[in-house]
Amino acid sequence: MKNLKLSSLNGGPHRKTLVKVGEVTIGQGFIVIAGPCSVESEDQTIETARRVKEAGANILRGGAFKPRTSPYAFQGLGIKGLQILEKAGKETGLPVVTEVLDPRDVSWIAEYVDMLQIGTRNMQNYSLLKEVGKAKKPVLLKRGMYSTLSEWLNCAEYILAEGNPNVVLCERGIRSFDTYSRNTLDLSVVPAVKEVSHLPIIVDPSHGTGRLSLIGPMSLAARAAGADGIMVEVHRNPAEALSDGDQSLPPEMFDSLMKKLKVVDDCMKKIAG
Ligand code: PEP
Ligand code: MN
Repeated sequence: MKNLKLSSLNGGPHRKTLVKVGEVTIGQGFIVIAGPCSVESEDQTIETARRVKEAGANILRGGAFKPRTSPYAFQGLGIKGLQILEKAGKETGLPVVTEVLDPRDVSWIAEYVDMLQIGTRNMQNYSLLKEVGKAKKPVLLKRGMYSTLSEWLNCAEYILAEGNPNVVLCERGIRSFDTYSRNTLDLSVVPAVKEVSHLPIIVDPSHGTGRLSLIGPMSLAARAAGADGIMVEVHRNPAEALSDGDQSLPPEMFDSLMKKLKVVDDCMKKIAG
């Protein structure tokens, strides 16, 4: 791909970037990021964090600043949400990732978390990309819902060009014509990224499908496609969630998914030799 100076494989086909998030390494083995869509309360976040940790998750997710379609929908707890997330991370020993929406908030939010997330709606927000590029924390860069692979990698390039080498890509589904699922999860982009870039890539089947019944199969398929991990939404009581309850796994479903993932992971390791 043209003009990709830092994100492309010009160091050779075996070059691979490893991104450290706390004590977790992304790009080596298969990792799982799990947690609620939004941080809603201390109770909800800590209980969910404990459940996902027990099931084997590696990183805790939770939104404190939420990019919502409607301005009247729950917008997140803001700084209080970050404090809760930080506490949940400390209590469980899990590193935490949260979304940043505004370039003015990057430096202080970075103090609370181990990884900064750029959401699909902000993938091409160049001032935000430059700001996280200056931050000393790794960045999870979601694919824009209307974006090509080349546009996505160019956005990663913005972050890398500011001096932050720790970028992880996240496929989260793109807009297509089907309305059965929330988005169309493009799993073929996983091996495609591996062909052109050294950056790790994970898959978010929660936003990618928006349907509980599709999250498990797509998580297993993401592992089989060669992804470096997944990010899934888990809520202790999805019916009460303030955002994305329809696509949030209850803890029991997450437990069962983690067991199945282990089987596929073992199987894929055998195939890889
Ligand atoms: C999220 O992960 O909570 C989120 C808002 O995701 P996306 O940007 O992919 O919609
Ligand atoms: Mn969500």
